[in-house]
Amino acid sequence: MNTALNQPYLTWICLTCGLIYDEAAGLPDEGIPPGTRWEDVAINWTCPECGARKEDFERVDF
Ligand SMILES: [Zn+2]
Repeated sequence: MNTALNQPYLTWICLTCGLIYDEAAGLPDEGIPPGTRWEDVAINWTCPECGARKEDFERVDF
């Protein structure tokens, strides 16, 4: 069972530069297709704006 499929897409923000990562939108310019979950983004991916690592992003709660 994969309950993650039923969960809403989340939004993450870079704490260093404020770049938004929206799971629903992905980052096609970075080779991340729309609908890619944050946990499925490569662990060594870095912010295209400032080079921050994934651990420097925080989930945005609306
Ligand atoms: Zn950044």
